Amino acid sequence: MSQHLLTSSMSESTLSRQSDVSEQLQILALLGHPVGRCADFPPLGRDDERELKLLDSVAICLLGNIPGDIVAVTLDRSPPLTLVLARNGNPIHEDLQASNEFFRLVKSDAPSAKLLRFVMNHSSAKLNTTRRKLALPIDTIYGLLESYEAVSFDDEFPMHNEMFRETRGSVGVRELLKGCLDSIKLHACHELPETVADSDVDAMSCLLITGRILRSSTFSKSVLEASLQYPAIEFLKQLDKLLLYRDAINYIVTSKPFLHRFFPGDKIVHRWVEGPIESTGANTVGLSKTFLGAIQKRVPKFQDIHHFDAQLNNWQDSIVTLVHAHIWLIICHTLHSNALAPDPMKLKHRSIPLQLMGSSEPSCRCCDRWIMEYREHHNVHWRTSSGHGMAYANWALAGIGAIDTAVVSHIPSFVDEKLLEITSGSSTTSNDENIHV
Ligand SMILES: [Zn+2]
Repeated sequence: MSQHLLTSSMSESTLSRQSDVSEQLQILALLGHPVGRCADFPPLGRDDERELKLLDSVAICLLGNIPGDIVAVTLDRSPPLTLVLARNGNPIHEDLQASNEFFRLVKSDAPSAKLLRFVMNHSSAKLNTTRRKLALPIDTIYGLLESYEAVSFDDEFPMHNEMFRETRGSVGVRELLKGCLDSIKLHACHELPETVADSDVDAMSCLLITGRILRSSTFSKSVLEASLQYPAIEFLKQLDKLLLYRDAINYIVTSKPFLHRFFPGDKIVHRWVEGPIESTGANTVGLSKTFLGAIQKRVPKFQDIHHFDAQLNNWQDSIVTLVHAHIWLIICHTLHSNALAPDPMKLKHRSIPLQLMGSSEPSCRCCDRWIMEYREHHNVHWRTSSGHGMAYANWALAGIGAIDTAVVSHIPSFVDEKLLEITSGSSTTSNDENIHV
């Protein structure tokens, strides 16, 4: 059942409120500036860090192909110990199949190549998009390499000099970097078939290994990261997206003893949470017809539109909103079933129980704030590994009045501050490439 069917009975007042929120979030998203992570988190202990990284890795591997989606996962310690999964709305049939297959592979100690094959089949469309975008700016990267003054072998590849023990001396540093680029170019252009073969897995492994070597080189750190050119920024962005999958698989493989401690039996017990959640703002929401019209709702006499050339053509006058996975997980799990059983060891040390939540990408600004407010209202300290601080226009009100209100009450002042910064010349406007609607 789609989430939209579940929410077709949204009241006029919720729709109007969601429309206002989405409009302001879209303005912030188009201005392209992160508004920052709202929560101030103390450092985690070693085991909590490992648990959270493992949960993040599981979420990345189970992401699949739905555009703009997120997977979130937590560990419910009430017996039987269970991994609880969520996406932006109810899971689809493929999610259930995929998680069964994935956890069977993990529990059977499958090697990383088998997990990579699973990810390539499960997330083929997303991987193809990322690979295509990675290949596009590569000629610019060759150009930057040509003018790069390579440093010594050990300084260039501090994390991989052991790997090149036999090659060093016979091949120059620049040639090795060029070889990495050649490999990325060759494999990134190759479209993945619907069902991958051994040769596709080998090619992907090669792409990920050479990508990791290039990414940790001094050339990447000192030239690509420092470059303000769009092709270099885009190349690193797409490469980092691909490497997330590799790092997640490697972390799961190397953390198997840690995982088996939680699940010593023959299965990794898991389930997906399902709605419905009543009174959310998830729907297709109509907004102002133009970016200028939306701004004029905040500043009625505003005409100084020349600051916003890049944003004018990217305005969407209609948005499909969704309850993000982080919130969907908390509500469906804690309000539609027994509350999470806290870890007794953690209760000894903390007045508010800590509940870790992994996700396939950092939490957005509104989810971060929502999680923080939830802690105040329900006395459970949910914690994600990171937040990117960006606002997303598709963020839906969760239907819990007091928390929703606390989250969205901050948004208008952010919009006003950003508009003032830009129009007064104290901030640079974003360009097309930074826009996240
Ligand atoms: Zn979010």
